[in-house]
Amino acid sequence: MRDIILLTSEPRKTIDFLQTNRLLSASEQCECGQIMELQTSNSSSDGFCWRCRTCWKKVSVRKGSFFSGSKLPLTELIIFIYMWAYEMSTYKDVRRECRFLSDHTIANWRMYLRELCVEHFLRHPQVLGGEGSTVEIDGSLFARRKNNTGRVRRQLWVFGGYEPATKLGFLVTVPSRDAATLIPIIKEYVRPGTTIMLDCWRACDSLESERFHHLLANHKYNLVDPSTSATTNYVENMWQHSKRRNKAECGTHEHMVESCLAEFMWRQKFKNNPLEGVFEQIREIYLL
Ligand SMILES: [Zn+2]
Repeated sequence: MRDIILLTSEPRKTIDFLQTNRLLSASEQCECGQIMELQTSNSSSDGFCWRCRTCWKKVSVRKGSFFSGSKLPLTELIIFIYMWAYEMSTYKDVRRECRFLSDHTIANWRMYLRELCVEHFLRHPQVLGGEGSTVEIDGSLFARRKNNTGRVRRQLWVFGGYEPATKLGFLVTVPSRDAATLIPIIKEYVRPGTTIMLDCWRACDSLESERFHHLLANHKYNLVDPSTSATTNYVENMWQHSKRRNKAECGTHEHMVESCLAEFMWRQKFKNNPLEGVFEQIREIYLL
């Protein structure tokens, strides 16, 4: 945090920092063909703009970047991204550290960052397992409540896997948890030869359980019933985390469930350096 604040203490430093991290374009060519120059600009909230020496056209330093749709100070946005990356972005914390951000803006920028997570898993689907490895699979019910009356509006099944050896996981929402729905997902996200610890038939009837055994064996997966073996509780932990996050941040918005799940998976994957992770996602989508 201290480094970020030092690196963004002046408008020019902020722009340098973002250019160095390839989050703002480091050069700009004018429509007339001339290479533009970075100049101070009183009319721009960034304090600088690109200026053409030939036709005097002006272009924002944010052109084509992740920040181009916003007029908020770049420093505030960087600090917000830092706080989000390190899970310090409760409304209370952000309100204190970023005075320019209203609650509405905070909600929006959280959504933009979650959308980066969704985009990441669309671009890089997480396939787990392989010969000799183990993947735990479980389904869980995310009950969506309607405001504070506590009435359940809709039930949403979420199906997920976790590979303890790599600490990677996947989560997908599913309309139901029968074999016809889940087997194709397993085939998509888990490599053949994997030992699967599948717990989801615990609540299934015995006929459905038999179908699972039969179909998974057909697709060359080794099946283990966790109730009959010494098993860890990785998947269960994953659900607890995911549900807590879901409730704290997205409780009332049904359409946000999937992006919250993506955020959860993303945080698992990038937990060693989440800030650099966010920068990477931005760079991948906003080619400058
Ligand atoms: Zn020009």
